[in-house]
Amino acid sequence: MTTTHRITLLAGDGIGPEITAVARLLLEAVGRRHGFSLSFNEQPIGGAAIDATGEPLPASTLEACRQADAVLMGSIGAPRYDTLPRDKRPETGLLGLRRGMGLFANLRPVAISPSLIDASTLRREVIEGVDLMVVRELTGGIYFGTPKGRVDAEDGVRAFNTMAYSDHEIDRIARVAFELARQRRGRLCSVDKANVLDVSQLWRERVEAIHLTSFSEISLSHMYVDNAAMQLVRDPRQFDVLLTGNLFGDILSDEAAMLSGSIGMLPSASLGESGPGLFEPIHGSAPDIAGQDKANPLATVLSAAMLLRIGLKEEEAAADLEQAVEQVLAAGYRTADLMAPGCRPLGCMAMGDQLLAAVENSPSAG
Ligand code: NAD
Repeated sequence: MTTTHRITLLAGDGIGPEITAVARLLLEAVGRRHGFSLSFNEQPIGGAAIDATGEPLPASTLEACRQADAVLMGSIGAPRYDTLPRDKRPETGLLGLRRGMGLFANLRPVAISPSLIDASTLRREVIEGVDLMVVRELTGGIYFGTPKGRVDAEDGVRAFNTMAYSDHEIDRIARVAFELARQRRGRLCSVDKANVLDVSQLWRERVEAIHLTSFSEISLSHMYVDNAAMQLVRDPRQFDVLLTGNLFGDILSDEAAMLSGSIGMLPSASLGESGPGLFEPIHGSAPDIAGQDKANPLATVLSAAMLLRIGLKEEEAAADLEQAVEQVLAAGYRTADLMAPGCRPLGCMAMGDQLLAAVENSPSAG
């Protein structure tokens, strides 16, 4: 009997519908080739959900995500929602989804395609061979800490957030990062600001404790976040697994994205202790190019590959998708964000057509 995997699809806002449409076609294509099928349950989130229901994360969307085998998301957010109260904004829907699904571990792999070495703003000799994984804590830290808010003070208005981590939150994300280091090259660099922040001092203590008790064979180092930002562009090859809190990982992984040539290249997986994972590109809804068929769909396609590998255990299908991406890049196809001067870019859909052809003509057809 053919297996049917249940995918909840959250297209979201801006370029979200364009890039997820491409990823869906490709998932269906690799499914046909590898003898499984996929059922897609499309649900609104972010601005699209605000328009439809008044809420950025309707209860029915969260429930559909919890019931799925895996969730594929595009992106959320658009300028016209920026003036809404914080609890009604698209970004609140995404934070609520991560929290509601218990997705505390965000995995952001950064590998440089050989075909894109010259697309990066950094020199070839700096980025050639870069292969690192950012493991970002996703449901704690300053995005969720309390108290937070805005008050009228004597000398004007004051706004504040709280960066807080408890020991068990640090321990569980550290374990994920150590496990990954064990499967990779055995090196973990934990990023913090322990010279200034109490929360970082606890972070460092707990990472060291987990290291000592369970992962002593892993080579562990600590780095202040400001130095990590500098080292990422100075010598990114020094890193294997980078462990970060929520805010630091958000910033450092966007920086790391540029090693690969474009933010349109980087996928991610968000995982909990159990239950379905959420797979999405690391970029946002790119309102400046939304609806113009200019978006690079590759980060979403590579997120779909992570969905297949991690979420559905369909390793061969995942490898097929990744190979298709390499093949179209090697053949010289590029969306506008990756263009060299003088070349004519492909649109999002045309890039999807090339990927589809690469999947359908790949030699591993079975
Ligand atoms: P962004 O990532 O949307 O865009 C930054 C720049 O990168 C833009 O110039 C954009 O055109 C370009 N870009 C991004 N993805 C691209 C792609 N696939 N192909 C080609 N170019 C691409 O970041 P922003 O402009 O800071 O934020 C826009 C909106 O997205 C905001 O509302 C923000 O809150 C939201 N956002 C959402 C997520 C998410 O859904 N996970 C993440 C970050 C930002």
